[in-house]
Parts: sequence; structure tokens; C-alpha cells
Amino acid sequence: MLKNYKPKAIETLAQNALKHYKEELICGEPCEIPIEELIEFHFGVIVQYRNLSKKGTIHGITVFEDSIIPVYDTQLKRYEASFAKSGTILIDSRLLAENKVKRLRFTLAHELAHWMIHQDYYKEIDELASKTSSDSDIRTEREADSLGAALLMPYGRVKVAFCRLKPKLRQEAIISQMAQLYNVSVQAMEIRLKTIGLI
Ligand SMILES: [Zn+2]
Repeated sequence: MLKNYKPKAIETLAQNALKHYKEELICGEPCEIPIEELIEFHFGVIVQYRNLSKKGTIHGITVFEDSIIPVYDTQLKRYEASFAKSGTILIDSRLLAENKVKRLRFTLAHELAHWMIHQDYYKEIDELASKTSSDSDIRTEREADSLGAALLMPYGRVKVAFCRLKPKLRQEAIISQMAQLYNVSVQAMEIRLKTIGLI
């Protein structure tokens, strides 16, 4: 059974995870959230980089149970079987390119969100089905996006940063400055500010 997460529950989950890892992420100055560090040191989940598809269409996979994952070998030009342990987040290696850092950070946060709230869901689906986040449905995807955004752009600190900038800048400039501050895309910040109800 898939639990339905209310927006407030999503905010609380994100807030608690960040607070338990490092309180200053919630209470200190607005800053970039060290998402990979949070995944590895707070949740004990391993992050590995592989070519997850031939063309780079799959950005990330969360592994809930020991699985064999097809990964693309660019030298042999074919898919190979790769073993991944439960508690692994696989990220497409092409996201390590410098200009993809924001996409990489959002993918990491999205996959961490699956790990945080969708373990039961994936473990309960058909035994023969693969137990990874790449088989997500629309609802789990939407939830992972919301929780991912709440982790990268925590409610309270985002609100403070917004209030500080509001008297000085126009909306567009505020969004782009805040996107830079949190190292997320302008689009992700805009959606987040709308979700919170600030714009
Ligand atoms: Zn997903």
C-alpha cells in the first residue's frame, strides 16, 4: 500500500532529516545543502556513478533490495549486468559534467526521497518486478520531487532568504539569486517558491 504524503508531512520529513544531520542547515544562514554528504553520512546510502542507459535518459535509480541492474558499457557498446546492493543510489555518470551539477543535485535529492518514503512501496510490489526506483508511478515520482525539493530548499531558510531579498529586488532577480544560493536550477527554485506560497 502506498501511503499518501500530505505537503506538511513532506516538509516535516525534510526538516527533521536536515536537522538531525546538521542543525545549522535549518537554523543557520541560508546555504547550499550538501546533498551527497547527507545521503552518505546521515542515511548510510552509497552513491555510485554508472552509465544507466545508452543515451542518458535515466538519471538515477534507488536500489531497495540487492539487484542486478543493466548498465551501458560505452567501450563494448552494449549493456552489462551490474550488481547493486540494497541501499545504493545509482546516478548516471554523465551528470558529473560541470554544466549538469544542478541536475545532478536534484537527481540525488529525488532518489534520496524515494529511499526515505518509498521503501515499503517497492518492497511490496510484485515479487518478480525489479525493486528499484526506475519503475516508479506518477504519484511516487511527484512525491519524490516534492521531498527532494524540500531537502534542497528547506522551508524556513528559503522563506527568510526570500523576505530579505524582497524589498531590494524584483521577483525574477530574487528567484535567480536564490537559485544560485542553494545551487539549484532557476526552474526548481521557482516551483519551490510557488509551492511554499511566496510567489
Ligand atoms: Zn523517481
